[in-house]
Parts: sequence; structure tokens; C-alpha cells
Amino acid sequence: MGNELVQLTVRETEGLLASARVPQPAISVPLPGRLRTFYIETFGCQMNVHDSEKVQGVLLARGMRPVEDHAQADLILYNTCSIREKAAQKVFSRLGAFRKGNGGAGKVIGVLGCVAQQEGERFFERAPQVSFACGSASYSKLPQLLDELEAGGRRVCGLSLDTDECFETELTRRDNPFRAYLTIIEGCDQRCAFCVVPMTRGPQRSRASQKILAEATRLVDEGYTEIQLLGQIVNAWQDPSPARRSFAELLSCVAEIPGIRRVRFTTSHPRFFTPDIVEAIDAHPALCDQVHLPVQSGSTPVLARMLRGYTREEYLERIQRIRRARRPISLSTDIIVGFCGETRQDFEQTLSLMQEIEYDQVFSFKYSRRPSTLAETLGEALTEEEKGQRLAELQELQRQIQLRRNQALLGETFEVLVEAYQPRLGQAVGRSTTNRVINFPGNPADVGRYLMVKVTAAGPNSLVGVRA
Ligand code: SAM
Repeated sequence: MGNELVQLTVRETEGLLASARVPQPAISVPLPGRLRTFYIETFGCQMNVHDSEKVQGVLLARGMRPVEDHAQADLILYNTCSIREKAAQKVFSRLGAFRKGNGGAGKVIGVLGCVAQQEGERFFERAPQVSFACGSASYSKLPQLLDELEAGGRRVCGLSLDTDECFETELTRRDNPFRAYLTIIEGCDQRCAFCVVPMTRGPQRSRASQKILAEATRLVDEGYTEIQLLGQIVNAWQDPSPARRSFAELLSCVAEIPGIRRVRFTTSHPRFFTPDIVEAIDAHPALCDQVHLPVQSGSTPVLARMLRGYTREEYLERIQRIRRARRPISLSTDIIVGFCGETRQDFEQTLSLMQEIEYDQVFSFKYSRRPSTLAETLGEALTEEEKGQRLAELQELQRQIQLRRNQALLGETFEVLVEAYQPRLGQAVGRSTTNRVINFPGNPADVGRYLMVKVTAAGPNSLVGVRA
């Protein structure tokens, strides 16, 4: 999903997936300099996870080696998220350990991503143990910045947002052996009042369709059967090449690559959710039966204050279009509770929208005030406690909806891609095209296969089944 919060270290991803790794591209290895080993920890969304995969590709191409424990690393990198205050604080707690325990002696510590961009050069004052800060808009300059670090640079930074380049690397080191992330658009030009992303990821830059299709084809040749197209606003993608493909045409082209089984895309913005996207899903079974369409609020006045660019009714029109698709499409969304000036009545509008749509999954958050956003200047009516109460109420409603919807699937059979095997439980973990997780008795050899599974039990967050 577009907004799953993940926090994966090299060790965790390798441990989970080691059983079925597809071959990584061959890398020509120059002699490493004084930085021979690296450790990278990632916070935040799939875009951050994939950025870290690309950063790892650059480091491996320099002859550096990943290690599982930061104590063994010459270069320690934290790829950070600042979408909410809590996420941003995590990196400072990580860095605190180095100050107290002095475990950072002889190591180069770097901070990547949104917090690096947001704090800028202040980072070096706030956390003197950090000698490298780089925002995602400057990743294309990583090789030069690493050269500076190798040469002993103490305050090396890549913080310019003035870029029209995408972060291209041939040597992306993908952690998941089945689902490959593929960035099609970077940055964001929207100005949602609550959101820090345009300030941390820079202006919108779309990749040319030929480059995207060449990468997708290469991924299929390497053995991937599922591709997830990524962008902060993935459907705002505009082909900069003379082919001038629309986003829906791009989806169709990716879905038509021989050998591809599943294509997902995230995150879509309702403003750019045009009817041809649903037509493309209708025409191509490889486009998954799943759309993630963040609504943020069910109240039109709140949406207007958020500068989302649509009303409740316009959002519902998009949903009706998706509901009219030939296949049943599973729907998920993001919701913020307690945005500036949200009244009880506004909040109830959000609850009624959820009851009307019956999402299959909702990612819900308490509003968190972020620096340099428009909403920073708006007054907040609710305390943290009140926001927490609304969040709990919303999540309980959604739990009941999910349980009801999942129980309605009892006895149905789904094709799942098996993503993992849990030896302790003797269970395989599969995912349906609708993005539902189904656990069923299996064995390690199932990992990576597409299998038919019949649903025998249902909880709010996952299903249980048996091989059909
Ligand atoms: N770019 C996407 C969009 O605009 O739909 C999603 C970006 S963000 C990584 C994922 C979600 O975090 C948003 O959809 C929103 O629900 C939530 N979010 C963003 N800023 C927030 C804030 N200041 N406080 C609470 N939640 C926030």
C-alpha cells in the first residue's frame, strides 16, 4: 500500500526473504576506499524503501559491502521520514545512541531523505556525530558526495531542491525477490495544506515512458512477476518523452509485458483519477483488483481547508466509477483525523463516508503539524487526546467493516502469490490481487509461487485458507 509504515533493516528484509532471492544484477567492483562496509535503516513509505534500494545499488557499485549490524559498518545511513512528527523524531533517538555510547567513533554517519532535507545544515549542529546529509532530490549526486566523504569531508551535504533530474541507477539492489518497486515520478507539486512532501522531495519529475518500460522489461527478465509503480502522486505522471503516453496508457504497456502477472500503482490522487484508469484495469487482468485512493476527510469544508482540490461528492463519483469496473476492485484510503478546525460534524461526515464506501483497508492518522506547511499557520481546535479519541472511534468502525467484508469471502477461492513461509507455524503467507493477506498450511517451496487458496476463516486484517 501507498502508506504502509515500514521500518526495515538490511537484516530484517534479508531474513524474511532469503529463502527465495532472485539473482541481483552483476556488479563490476572497483576497489573500495576507506568506507568498506555500510548499514542502512529505512523509515517511512515504499518510496523511501525503494530509494534505499537504489542507494544500496550505488554503494555496492563502489565495492562496499552491506552488514547486518551497525557496529560493523564504516558508513551508517538512516533514510528518514518526516510526514508526521513522531516519524521525524525516530532518527534523533537513533543518533542519540551514538552520542551517549560513543559507538560512532571512526564511523561516518549520514542522514538521508525527508528529515535531512527539512533540517538542512542545522543537522550538523543538532547532531554533531552526523557528517553527511542528503535529501532525495539530490540522490543523483550521491557518487560525488560519497567521493567527498571518502576524501575525509566532515559536513558533506546534498540539499538542493532545484532539480529536474530523477534518481536513476542501473544497479538498484532490490530486497523483495517477487515484487519490484519501480519509481515513475518523483517529488510533488501539490500543495496539500498538511503535507511536508513538496518541501522535502522537491518538484515533480516524471521519468520517460521508454525508461520505465525498459526497466520493467528488465525486471521481468530477472524473474519478477509483480511490479509496483511508485510516486507520491503516481497518477500525476506525465510522459516527458515524444511518445506522450497518458498514465492509463503506461499502465496498459506495463501490463502487456510478456511474463508479468501483477501490476500495482501507488499513491493515486483523486484529482488525477481519470476514467481511462478504470478502463485500463478492465482491459488488462494483470492490473491488480486494487486501488488506493486517499480521501483524507469526508467533509467538503475540511477538504477545502486541506487544499485537496475535490469535494466529498467528486470523490464519491470517482469511487462509483471504480465500483462499475468489470471486476470487483478492492479499495483502500488514507484518512487524517483532527485536522485544523475539524468539528464533530466534520468528523461524522468522515465516518459516514466510510460507511458508504466500505473500504477494504484504511490507513488513519492523527493530524500532525509540520514545518513550512500552510496548515502550520492555521489554528488547531483539538487536543492530542481528542484527536486520539476520534482516531480510536474511526479505527473501531473500520475494524467492523473489514471483519464483515472479509467474512463475506468465506468459501471463496483466490489466487495468491506466496511471499513468505513461517516455519514456526508451518504456514505460507500469500497475497491476493486485491492485496488481502491469506495464511494457509504450506511449505518453504511454496514461496514465490502462485497458488489457489480457499478461504476458511476471516479476521479483520487477514484471512485463513487451505490449498484449493
Ligand atoms: N502523496 C500522497 C497523497 O497526497 O495522497 C501520500 C503521501 S503520505 C506519504 C501518506 C499519508 O500520510 C497521507 O495520505 C496522509 O493521510 C498522511 N499525512 C500526510 N501528512 C500528514 C500530517 N501532517 N499529519 C498526519 N498525517 C499526514
